[in-house]
Formats: sequence, C-alpha cells, structure tokens
Amino acid sequence: MNDLNISFIINEYAEDRDDYFRAVAPPIMQTSNFAFKKVDDLRKSFEDEYSTWLYSRGLNPTVEILRKKLAALDAAEDCLVFNSGAAAIFAAALANVKSGDHIVSVRNPYTWAKKMFDEILPRFNVSVTYIDGTKIENFIAVTKDNTSIYYLETPNSWSYELQDLEAVATLAKKHNIITICDNSYCTPLYQRPIEYGIDLVLQSATKYIAGHSDTVAGVLSGGSNMIQKIFNSEYLNIGSGIQPFNAWLLIRGLRTLPARLERITATTAKIVEYLQMHDRVEKVIFPLDKNFVQYELAKKQMQGGCGLLTFIIKAKNIATIEMFCNSLQHILMAVSWGGHESLIIPRCASIKPEKFIAASEEHRMLRLYCGLEDADYIISDLERGFEAIKEME
Ligand SMILES: *Cc1c(COP(=O)(O)O)cnc(C)c1O
Repeated sequence: MNDLNISFIINEYAEDRDDYFRAVAPPIMQTSNFAFKKVDDLRKSFEDEYSTWLYSRGLNPTVEILRKKLAALDAAEDCLVFNSGAAAIFAAALANVKSGDHIVSVRNPYTWAKKMFDEILPRFNVSVTYIDGTKIENFIAVTKDNTSIYYLETPNSWSYELQDLEAVATLAKKHNIITICDNSYCTPLYQRPIEYGIDLVLQSATKYIAGHSDTVAGVLSGGSNMIQKIFNSEYLNIGSGIQPFNAWLLIRGLRTLPARLERITATTAKIVEYLQMHDRVEKVIFPLDKNFVQYELAKKQMQGGCGLLTFIIKAKNIATIEMFCNSLQHILMAVSWGGHESLIIPRCASIKPEKFIAASEEHRMLRLYCGLEDADYIISDLERGFEAIKEME
C-alpha cells in the first residue's frame, strides 16, 4: 500500500466508475439491506459477512470506497469507519482487553478516551496508569505482566506532547502489547504511525477529513486480521458504523484535504509568528515551532502539522481572558476543529471562576484553530481581542 500515490488514492483509488454510469462522484448507496437470488449465496453471507453485501450495519458499497482510501492513506492493510472518533476509540480498546488487564495511557488523552479508561473499563476490572509519554522510560517503568495496551495520542490536542512512535512500538512488541495511537492532529497526510510499527491508528474524521464542520465520524486502521476481528465483533455489535451519506461527505472531504492542509499550514505559520511577537502573549505552543521542547522528534516523525495551537495569555484575572474571547467577532468559540472556520476555546471555560489561578500557565491557555480564512482576517480579529483587554488590569 505504501507505494500508492496520495493524489491517486484521493481522486481515483477504489472508485470503479463503470459500476455507476461513469459518474464522476460516487453514488450514495442509501440502503439498509441487500437481496440474494439463491439460498446458498445467503448462507455464504451468513458464514462470512466480511466478504459480502448483507446489511449496512456491516458493509456498504459507499463506505467501502471510503474505507479503501483511508486505509491506503494510513499505509494500513484495512480500516473501519465509525460514526464518531469516540466509537473508534472504544472499539479499539474493547477489542484488546479482558478482565484483569492493565492499560498504559499517555496523560490527558482525548476527553472521551479518558472517560472510558476512568469510568467504563474499571467496571470490567481493567485498570489504567497514566504517564508522561514524552519519555520511553516512563512506559518501561509502569509496564506489568498484565499490560495489554499502550494508548498514545501524538501530538496531544492541547499541549502537543509527543511520543516517540518507533521507540514505543519496539518496546510494545517485546512485551506483546497492542499499541493504539490517536492520530487526529496530523491526519495520515502528516503522520503514519503504522509505518513506525504501531498496531492500530485512529483519528476523528470529524476534524480534517470531513473538513467542513458538518459530519461526525472516526477511522480505525490496522492489520487485516485485527480489523476483521473487530468487524466481526465490536463493530457489528456496537453498531456504530458510519452511514452511507456521511461516508459520501468524507469522500468529498478527502478530495480537498491536501489543499486545505497546505493552506492552513501557511496560515498557522503567520499566526504563530504574530502571537509570538505580541506583548500580551507569554508563550505559544505549536509542535513545529523551533522553540517547542520536542521539535526534533516532531520533525522526525511528522511530515507536517497545522491548524491547532495553544497560546498562553498574560492575564491576572479570569475576566481578562473572558473579555478577550467575548470580543472576537469572526473566530468562533466552539469545540472541535478541522473545519473551514477558525475557532477558539479558553482553558478557563472548564474551570469554575473561583478556582482560577493566574499563576497557572494551564489556566491561561487558549486553544486556537486556524481555519481557511485569510491569515490577515484571523489576525485582525485576534487584534480586536487584544485591543479589548488593553486597559484591563
Ligand atoms: C475530536 C477528537 C476525538 C473524538 O472524535 P469524535 O469524532 O468527536 O468522536 C478523538 N481524539 C481527538 C484528538 C479529537 O480531537
């Protein structure tokens, strides 16, 4: 799969136009079930749903086009597409633990991964240890005989902490531990964890793949045996496979993915530079900035990265941060990212005002997503926010 060209994968691969009137855009196969002409064919399908069209909770032709493209982009043998990134996380973890097992996870993984580790899996006697994943020694230190999963997210989507994918994969293989990596930040265009030996890679396709803030979806890629096993169990059982129309939207999103990432890369560089120069900004955290603590590792294992960055604003009061955010007129205050529109979330929105500590860097963090607007347009809005707090404090 590695030799497939990205332009080919995105524009042609897995699309057989002779199947649908030579239409350039593939059809949305909006059907729940498929009919059989012979009992014997139906019997074969019952025996092996993975190789037949039976029921769209399993396989569907529109979803199939998307699956092939996404697996190829990940340099994986196969993939499954879910109705959310959270569902992909859940299936990947559930498929690889049993009662009594132990999971090692990077600290502060995506919210709903953490909720699963903290609230759901303990009910089934599965425990988790969170570590600072920036050092391989920390994985070694907490690995036990019953450790079955290393859960990674590189870069993290707030602090951008990285794990050395090659080192973690090598360690995991020595102990027969399954590695799962959340690759939402990079997308397969900018990082392919499978090439470093990671077993399962997932991403929230809601972000860059969909790219227009109109679809929720998730991708889980890996070796064909593992993916087939998950299909026949967690995927069919949880029943959270992507719907044909949403799969079609993702195919459409893929067409422009390289162009969007290229544009956002250029915009992000300008915004990082603007923020670094601003006297109300204490620090900018962005993995491909030369000042980033793990810059060397980022350069080694990522081909790029863009859009999301965090800056620490100089503020003595929570009111200053709130005023900054409330004054923005174009940058929307909303969760998620990867769409056309720039977004911001202040960390202090997750903190009760009376608990705000001005000395805490974390409390003064603002996560900015640079969208597809002109860089100057985004910068002028940030400038509006800084103007609004000029006289404060
Ligand atoms: C959004 C996100 C997810 C979850 O994906 P959904 O599509 O929202 O379910 C997982 N990981 C990261 C890093 C995310 O940003």
